[in-house]
Amino acid sequence: MAVLPIVLYPDPVLMQSARALTPEEIRSGTANGLNLKQFTQDMLETMYAAPGIGLAAPQVGVSLRIHVMDTTAEKNQPMVLLNPKILAKKGSEKGEEGCLSFPKLFGMVRRAVQVTVEYTDLAGDLHKIETTALPARCLQHEIDHLDGVLFIDKMSITSKFSMRKDLEELRRNFLAKK
Ligand code: ZN
Repeated sequence: MAVLPIVLYPDPVLMQSARALTPEEIRSGTANGLNLKQFTQDMLETMYAAPGIGLAAPQVGVSLRIHVMDTTAEKNQPMVLLNPKILAKKGSEKGEEGCLSFPKLFGMVRRAVQVTVEYTDLAGDLHKIETTALPARCLQHEIDHLDGVLFIDKMSITSKFSMRKDLEELRRNFLAKK
């Protein structure tokens, strides 16, 4: 197990659409030279250490359609989702969100209240879940990451305006590190 470095905005990998895992990659448990079981364990450890409730593979620099999450208060229900897909959405509400790729920044984002999501687990089994509230919000946030969509892209203008200086600082830090 290892805590992986988290990629921060505006690293280009966060704006790319991630590639789906093939059935063969899921069967063999290997993709992009990574052992998927080990890699997703590391992703969970990274998420818990941050601490956060969700983490998508592009946030650790891997452009594959994988994300992990655990929205329980007890932090005892780790989930690993391969090729997750939103099948249906219901309702709409605003809620506050943060993102591990934007440290200490929070803003209001409008999301569906309920989502039905299909995903494959590490064993290759297909699951369909219907969730509301925090897990539904988290799923939408993480699946957006796999499409290269960030929470600032969906944030209210007021929220985005209020964090413009912080975003500018993140951009400056990114350029300074290159
Ligand atoms: Zn995020």
